Amino acid sequence: MSDRTIDGIEEILALARADIRALKAYEHAQWRPELQRLHANESPWPPLSCADGAPRHHYPEPQPAELVAAMAAYYGIATDQLLVGRGSDEGIDLLTRAFCRAEHDAVLVCPPTFGMYSVAATIQGAKVVSIPLLANFQLDLPSILSALNTASAVPIKLVWLCSPNNPTGNALSRADIDAVIEAARGRAIVIVDEAYAEFSDVPSWISSLPVNPHLVILRTLSKAHGLAGLRVGAVLAHAAIIQLLRKIIPPYALPTDSARLATIAMETAALAVTRERIMLLNSERERLRSALSKSPWLSRIWPSSANFLLVEARDGQAVLDRLAGVGLIVRDFRGKSGLGEAIRITIGTPDQNDRIIRSLS
Ligand code: PMP
Repeated sequence: MSDRTIDGIEEILALARADIRALKAYEHAQWRPELQRLHANESPWPPLSCADGAPRHHYPEPQPAELVAAMAAYYGIATDQLLVGRGSDEGIDLLTRAFCRAEHDAVLVCPPTFGMYSVAATIQGAKVVSIPLLANFQLDLPSILSALNTASAVPIKLVWLCSPNNPTGNALSRADIDAVIEAARGRAIVIVDEAYAEFSDVPSWISSLPVNPHLVILRTLSKAHGLAGLRVGAVLAHAAIIQLLRKIIPPYALPTDSARLATIAMETAALAVTRERIMLLNSERERLRSALSKSPWLSRIWPSSANFLLVEARDGQAVLDRLAGVGLIVRDFRGKSGLGEAIRITIGTPDQNDRIIRSLS
């Protein structure tokens, strides 16, 4: 690690809530798989409903070592730089609670973007500073830099960036993200949520972690890896930030079955299938874009490097009704964060995409 990283981390930890820094974490039952467990008040027998012998009567390993190692290898980082949790939603919650004091701290969000950043802040009682994206869905850099550079009684602790962004689909400019990271150095945590990174050609920000102790990346197995039902996501950050978050994640956050199945999803054979599916979804996205560009029902399709398309309908309700008529539900973004008649369509199977094309032709 560079000197810069080592120098910077104390300043960054000082941004966290003092009570959380001082907190002595709950001591969960020791993980000693070589011994028989009579230390966690569990049942000695597996449940009748689960005949496969998996130890579901035992609490899971708090940070499942095999899964952490597999995910760290997949993302190309050290195991102490990764915290696995119940989806990246858990990472959003943990970061908000670790860094934001109710009524005293703020987060910065750039709508239209993923709604949980501001929901988590509001649950925590933190202020939400909102700097909308520009008309091209890129960051309003001057306003963000000015918010970061202006001393405030309610300081901004977290800056939430999402790239590729949900619901707009575009990747944020690399130079803009870089400028935000520079402006926030020593002052705020910058989180780049890469939930849709696998669908995009844009390189991940993971390689920037070693020189930016205030940078945090969120990744998830819910999208490209197809494991939304297992709820597995990861926070990637400096080991000291991961340690801090480990203090506040509930003791046995990740269910046994989720850890086991997610570990299999990180194996070479599963990753090969995932890569093929990503390629298919990306080519289906472009097929859908091209077909829908002629649709009389739509006035606009925004560029996307994710597994969805944001479209503008001439009459949003009519489009929702037509798609429901062929058995499909899409996401209604009408009127959200100035989006007009916007509808977000997740890329489905070729058959599902054919039904969209037929019903909107
Ligand atoms: N970030 C973004 C940008 C998302 O779109 C989503 C889910 N829609 C999440 C995070 C949360 O995903 P999960 O908790 O399933 O990892």
